[in-house]
Amino acid sequence: MKEKLERCFKIRLLLTGKCTAKCSYCHNEGQTKSANLLTLEYIKEIFGKLESKNNLPDEVILSGGEPTLNKQVKDIAKFLKSKSIYVSMASHIGHTDLLEPVLPYLDELKIHLDSFNHDEQLKSMGIPLENIINSINLAKKYPVKLIVNHPLINQTKTVEFIESARKMSLDCKIIEEFGNINNIGLDDVDWNKNGYFKYRCNGFKHVNSSHRLFLKRCDVSHDRERTLFIGAEGIRSKLEVKTSIKDIGKMDKLVTVI
Ligand code: SF4
Repeated sequence: MKEKLERCFKIRLLLTGKCTAKCSYCHNEGQTKSANLLTLEYIKEIFGKLESKNNLPDEVILSGGEPTLNKQVKDIAKFLKSKSIYVSMASHIGHTDLLEPVLPYLDELKIHLDSFNHDEQLKSMGIPLENIINSINLAKKYPVKLIVNHPLINQTKTVEFIESARKMSLDCKIIEEFGNINNIGLDDVDWNKNGYFKYRCNGFKHVNSSHRLFLKRCDVSHDRERTLFIGAEGIRSKLEVKTSIKDIGKMDKLVTVI
């Protein structure tokens, strides 16, 4: 059992609580929306400790808030890459100039996008679609896996969204939000009828292309057994539990739990 859990050990680094988007459903990983920057220095300290215990994670997710607003994001990604860790980043990618320096050090970019319709996207997130398309075109020049994360809000619009993503060769992850606030769940959509067949747990493929679709329920049990959350506000083994960031000793306990 321990071996299995260690194989999927992930750390989500909450690089900042700040974000330039304005999604109404944002839970911001349980953080406040202040800047609260996580520093490279502190990350090095934590990863030095993990490495000495031979317990480096399989994947690190750079997250936030909006991680590109942390000026050290490139150096943080570069440091993690030097440890041969799979590095992914969850971002709204609305700031192409801030994204560009990080791209060489990313294995995967999880793009938060609400709509491929210009007006709807601006209304929903406050981030212009043109900025996101520019960032996607830039990212495609790098060997980075791209996936768009999309909240399930409206069945018809989500199906249209998936079709647009497929035309752009962007895999999708459809997320049922915390508490299913939109009263529509992943089980309410007939994925087969919309051209997708299940090929693995929560994974679907399009019948006539290589396009992939993943489904995720975002609830309070979200990744709790596999993911450690580290931010300037504390270290957590699950979203609702915080501990002092100054007490590195507690890290041992949290890692042992995982
Ligand atoms: S992009 Fe993410 S962090 Fe920013 S407001 Fe939207 S949900 Fe929150």
